[in-house]
Amino acid sequence: MRPRLWAPTFDDGPSASTSAILGALSANGQVRATFFNVGAQEQLHPALVLAQQAAGQWPGDHSYSHPFPDELPSYAVTDEILGTQQIHEQLTGVREWLFRPPFGPATAAIRATALSMGMTEVLWTVDTRDYAGATTPEIVATAMTAHDKDIVLMHDVLRQGSPLVGTGKLRTAM
Ligand SMILES: [Zn+2]
Repeated sequence: MRPRLWAPTFDDGPSASTSAILGALSANGQVRATFFNVGAQEQLHPALVLAQQAAGQWPGDHSYSHPFPDELPSYAVTDEILGTQQIHEQLTGVREWLFRPPFGPATAAIRATALSMGMTEVLWTVDTRDYAGATTPEIVATAMTAHDKDIVLMHDVLRQGSPLVGTGKLRTAM
């Protein structure tokens, strides 16, 4: 049977979970994922950003401070995208071109802002609900429903340890 080709993605890192995720991806046949990092987290964990790069993982921009982008004027959305893009480029030399808005509001205004900056918006088609307390077997079972071209949402963060938790920025989904 031909293997299914779907895209694992990990949001909100880098974090204390990153090294374990990189190890698991490597141990399972050099799986490549996209890490939609938060700029503030990249500043906290620059070595982990470099570890993601060294492991051949793809970078994505998930804003600087993980705000609700649909509540921001477009210039602030621009700042959020640009902040992370600049931090990432300074760290790695690589310019990000994939953007996932925090909480995933697929508004035309946000998409247009991202497009105007040369960024491609990437949402997801399969939601593991790991942020909502799904167990590991549940997350795996959901991910295994992915078909060709699916994009699977997961998170690179230990919920309790995330600085985002204390800021009231966790709404429903990431
Ligand atoms: Zn997020």
